[in-house]
This record gives sequence, structure tokens and C-alpha cells, in this order.
Amino acid sequence: MKVLKFGGTSVGSPERMMQVADIIAGVQGKKIVVLSAVSGTTNTLVSMSDYCENEQKDEAKKVAEELHSKYHEFVKNLYKDEAYVKSNIEFIDQKFSDINNLIEERFTEQVAKMFVAQGELISTHLFTEYLSSIGKSAVLLPALDFMALDEYAEPDLKTTKVKLENLLSSLDENVIVTQGYIARNAAGGTDNLRRGGSDYTATIVGAVLKVEEVQIWTDIDGMHNNDPRLVDNTRPLAHLSFEEASELAYFGAKVLHPSCIVPAQMNEVPVRIKNTMDPEAHGTLISNETEPEKVKALAAKDHITAIKIKSNRMVMAYGFLKRVFEVFEKYRTPIDMITTSEIAVSLTIDNSDHLKEIIEEIGKYATVEVDREQAIICIVGDHIASRKGVGTAIFEAMEEIPIRMISYGGSRNNISLLVPHDYMKDSLIKLHKALF
Ligand code: ADP
Ligand code: ASP
Ligand code: MG
Repeated sequence: MKVLKFGGTSVGSPERMMQVADIIAGVQGKKIVVLSAVSGTTNTLVSMSDYCENEQKDEAKKVAEELHSKYHEFVKNLYKDEAYVKSNIEFIDQKFSDINNLIEERFTEQVAKMFVAQGELISTHLFTEYLSSIGKSAVLLPALDFMALDEYAEPDLKTTKVKLENLLSSLDENVIVTQGYIARNAAGGTDNLRRGGSDYTATIVGAVLKVEEVQIWTDIDGMHNNDPRLVDNTRPLAHLSFEEASELAYFGAKVLHPSCIVPAQMNEVPVRIKNTMDPEAHGTLISNETEPEKVKALAAKDHITAIKIKSNRMVMAYGFLKRVFEVFEKYRTPIDMITTSEIAVSLTIDNSDHLKEIIEEIGKYATVEVDREQAIICIVGDHIASRKGVGTAIFEAMEEIPIRMISYGGSRNNISLLVPHDYMKDSLIKLHKALF
């Protein structure tokens, strides 16, 4: 069995959906097809939800109406058979009637989650119907029936496995379609795996079923050696190890959800990134093996907060770091980078939801300084920190750029630098020139 995930652009138009059907037909054996929402839809749903939160219901309705008519066009162009056009226009009208009811409801976090779930519910329905309209047998398995989150809103792999295996045991079809991104939370409500979460659905499904391979079909020919949105002349990487891919995803390579490699790595399920627009291209294979190259790739993660904590005593007593870490643990806030000196420790966080409480607690026994809008530049390579010359090349390239923090040697395949946001793009360009 294989898991095939298609992202927003890959299902972004009727023509693209037809092409997805061809790609699926070319893959042998049983497959679970995980789909994102049609590109742009989730952003539009988020904007509707934001309007509702700000009590601008009329604006939300206007946006809903525009999206509604876009889907009418989509349906008319997707199906040849008039009966399919008719029944799917009815489906879309029902969905937008549900969306309008959400707009009318009192806004809550739960309503926000219901809004953003609609994109995947629509795309998977339209696609399964398309397969049926061209005579291909397929079944739509609702992700909300098996994708489970725990009380901390993290994927609950055990429950997911039990539920999914149970559901699959009664299905004979070779093509099983399901929604990416959406999941059911511990309270039983509709929830999600955060933006870009369809990749995570695919690797979770692949991991719990221990499939042969997870394929992430997207709009680019694999993981590139730098962010193609910011840097020219990037190139795809044929092979990456789980660790390398995981670090690149976590530190900002948007082609993969930040956490999606973790379940695949734990269960040794290879992940292949492929290009829907160019199915013949090799793409990137992520597995236990890699090609040792001194510098493999760069990535950057934005909107990072740096926190400097200075001990009120002259030297850092033992036990000081423990007290600091306990505060972050209490507020379930992961620390990404950390550097220490004799009197201070600097660290970075991505999630600043509890920053105020964290500062207040640590402020009781230390001086705290905060720098917002920083960026982590992550340089990934094989035994990178122990290779001669890499450090010199990096620092020469960064000559004109103020570096706020450096993490060197913490892992054998990563060097990270923290720079102010405004220097992020420039850093990636300069390092690209120097290292590749
Ligand atoms: P999908 O909708 O298929 O999930 P995404 O937009 O989430 O696609 O991810 C693909 C995009 O990620 C690419 O179009 C590219 O602009 C961007 N990207 C950022 N960093 C990288 C990288 N290192 N390699 C490849 N793509 C990257
Ligand atoms: N549709 C969701 C998003 O746009 C999930 C995904 O595409 O992976 O974030
Ligand atoms: Mg994505």
C-alpha cells in the first residue's frame, strides 16, 4: 500500500484534478489518496473566519459568495456528464449554505475550526465524484472518522491506527480518498493539524499503516537546496536522510509541514516528494540513506522571538537553567536555539502565545530582554560542524549581517544562525553564493 498526497495547487483546477486521476492510475496497488483544499480556499476560509471574529459578517458573506461562484465554475468544468454537474452543484450549494450558517453563528474557536475544515471536505468530495464519473472505483473515507488529536492537540497515533485499521478492514476498493489537514480533537470537535497539515496527515496515515512509501505530490520538483521563493538558482535534492529533511522542514522549508517527517522516521517509511506538473522528474527521496555532502541545503524560519535571560547573580549558579527550562515546560513552549555565557542564556521560541507569562515568571529571579521578528537560518549538511572550512565560509558570507545567535555543534548535521527578520533574505542569498 502507498499513501499519495496532493497539495492545493495539484488539485487547484479541474484540469489539475484530472491529471491527479491519471497519476493515481499509474501507481500500482492499493493507495490512500490524501487531498488538500483547492489552492486559495483555506486562505479564503481563514479570512471569512477573521471577519466573523471582528463582527464583520457582511464582509464574510461577500467573500463566501465569491468563493461559491468559483466552485460553480469548477464543477461545470470538471464533469462531462450533466447528471454529475447537477448533483455536485447541489453539493456545493449545500456546503455554502452550511458556511453561511457558520457566519450567522456566535463566533468561537470551534466555529473557526469548522470554517477552515470546509476546503478539504469539498475537494475530496468533488474528486471522488470525478473518479466515479470516469468509471473508476474509489471510496471517500472521512478523516474525521479516524484522524485523532490528543488533549494537547497533537496527533494521537495509537487511536488513529486502531480506528483506521478498523475502517479499512471493511473496504475492498483500491483507491481510498481522504481529507488532509482535518482531525477530530479530544473533545470530539472538528480540528486540524495547523496550516500545511495535509503533509502531516499523509505521513501519519503512512506511519500507522507502515506503508511501502508516502508520496507528497506538489508544485515543485522536490526539496530544493534553498528557498526558491527567495533565492535564484536553487536545485532539487535527489536524496535526503530523515534527519536532514526533518530539520529543513522544521526550520522553514515550506514544501513539507514542519512536523511531518517525525512519524515517517519513527516507522522508517520513505517519503518521496514529486511534482504534479512534471511527474517524470525524479523528485526527492527521504529515507535512512543520504548522499554525504558537506553542505546540503539552507532554510529559514521567520517570526522567531529571541529571549535573553541574565542571572541576577554574577555567575550562573547550577540549577539556574533548570528553573528557566521549567517555565517553558509549564507553558508547553518549545525552545529552538539556545546559547549560554557565564551570566546569561539566550534562547529562541517560535510560539509566543505565552510569552507574557514566561517573562513574568522568569523576571522574578532574572533580567529578561526580548527581541521579536528574528529569523533562524538553518544550514544542513553531513557532519557539517566538524568539516574544515565550512565555518569560515559561513562567517565570510555573513560579514555584513548582524548575527544575534549561533548554534554550532549541537547536532552533527546542522548549524543555525539567528538574524533580524530584515536580513533573512540577504543571508540566504549570500550563504547560497558562498556554499554552493
Ligand atoms: P502544497 O500546496 O503542494 O502543499 P506548498 O505551497 O505547501 O505546496 O509547498 C510547495 C512550495 O514550497 C513550493 O512551491 C516552494 O515555493 C516552497 N518552498 C519553500 N522552500 C522550499 C524548498 N527548500 N524546496 C522546495 N520548495 C520550497
Ligand atoms: N489546506 C490546508 C492549508 O492550506 C492544509 C494543506 O494544504 O496542507 O493549510
Ligand atoms: Mg503544503
